[in-house]
Amino acid sequence: MVQWERIKQDFPIFLSERNRNLTYLDSAATSQKPKSVIDAVTDFYQNYCSNVHRGIYSLSETATDMYEKSRENISGFIGSPSSDEIVFLRNTTEALNLLSYTLGRNLSAGDEVLISIMEHHSNIVPWQFLEEKGIKVIYTDITKEGKLDMEDFRRKITPRTKIVSITHVSNLLGTINPVREIGKMAHDNGSIFIVDGAQSVPHMKVNVQDIGCDFFAFSGHKMLGPSGIGVLYGKREMLHQMHPFLGGGEMIRTVSTFGSTWNDVPLKFEAGTPNIEGSIGLSAAVDYLNRVGMDEIRDHERDLIQYTLKMEDEYDIENLVSYGPRDPNAKDGVYSFNIGEIPPMDMDSQLMNNGLIIGSSVHPHDVSSSLDETDVAVRSGHHCAMPLNHRLGVVATSRASYYVYNTRNDVDRLFEQLERIRKVYNHGR
Ligand code: PMP
Repeated sequence: MVQWERIKQDFPIFLSERNRNLTYLDSAATSQKPKSVIDAVTDFYQNYCSNVHRGIYSLSETATDMYEKSRENISGFIGSPSSDEIVFLRNTTEALNLLSYTLGRNLSAGDEVLISIMEHHSNIVPWQFLEEKGIKVIYTDITKEGKLDMEDFRRKITPRTKIVSITHVSNLLGTINPVREIGKMAHDNGSIFIVDGAQSVPHMKVNVQDIGCDFFAFSGHKMLGPSGIGVLYGKREMLHQMHPFLGGGEMIRTVSTFGSTWNDVPLKFEAGTPNIEGSIGLSAAVDYLNRVGMDEIRDHERDLIQYTLKMEDEYDIENLVSYGPRDPNAKDGVYSFNIGEIPPMDMDSQLMNNGLIIGSSVHPHDVSSSLDETDVAVRSGHHCAMPLNHRLGVVATSRASYYVYNTRNDVDRLFEQLERIRKVYNHGR
């Protein structure tokens, strides 16, 4: 049995004087780091700092060994058949840009990339770059519940669809998408299938072979690891055939004035000195997550979201609306809400769970700064998903997102404070 109440003790940030009362509900933006991760990074700097895949001396060989062992550990964590299929990059954003750049070279005018309206900007904008070549980006809609509209997906996948790129979990709605099913349809259609795993890998057991995707991208900083380290998993054959993304040191086999040849995968995609300490820190994060257990983490967050929805009903805060599925099995630990509605743009976009809200609103930025007065940290804004906000008919939402160090006490605190804020703003009416 995991002692969820005790987990905070592993995270130095919660032990500092400044943050003793902190209720951190913004892990979908970035997670806090356990001591073991901080120690792993410090240990590298203090004892092994040197470049990798370059030096023929023992310090550098040890660093290379640590870097490659981290790759193996992370490979195992997501069920990749081989560590050669794990490319270290900066983050999910860089991974998706790499794919748009390299796969986009083989697309031509009239070809289509099928994504969804619930994507993060990093799975929209890189594909929009291809529009100047005449490639079209097509958006699968969502249902009233905030799930991916599979009927719409079936309608929109056609022989022109060369790439399907879908988020595993929505960072705004918390929706868990049926990526396996989508992958099968993509492959039956002859399309390449990419999964944005930024919000899934930290929170549930992921196996890229089970999902059957060609590529899978995620970021270390959202899964207890350091910032500036991210991963692109890709099927070896596909990585092998792809053109490199960035050029420079380490990604080449030979360079002459006549041209260059490329290193093997994955180094072909790791130009320049990589984030060595980041990969080591991420490996320590994977060890930590494995110790807690990914199934346990998913169950814990399912419990927190279920409890959140229960508190929402119990507190019955005037004009509070929340977004996304209400079935905790279809939703990750992400709770986006508004107190009152920023006027919807049109009638079609009224997808709020509680229907159309008329009356006073509290802007999400005011919600967030009022919560901050009592050390409750949530994010507010468009959450880098502007098309989804538009689809929902809102300009912004507040978002509470959970992780291993959160407990039901944090949810209680959130709702106590939301009730207080509602009263304060009612007063000013
Ligand atoms: N996709 C999703 C679903 C995300 O939530 C995020 C981060 N908010 C990203 C992609 C981008 O991640 P990063 O900023 O680490 O590149």
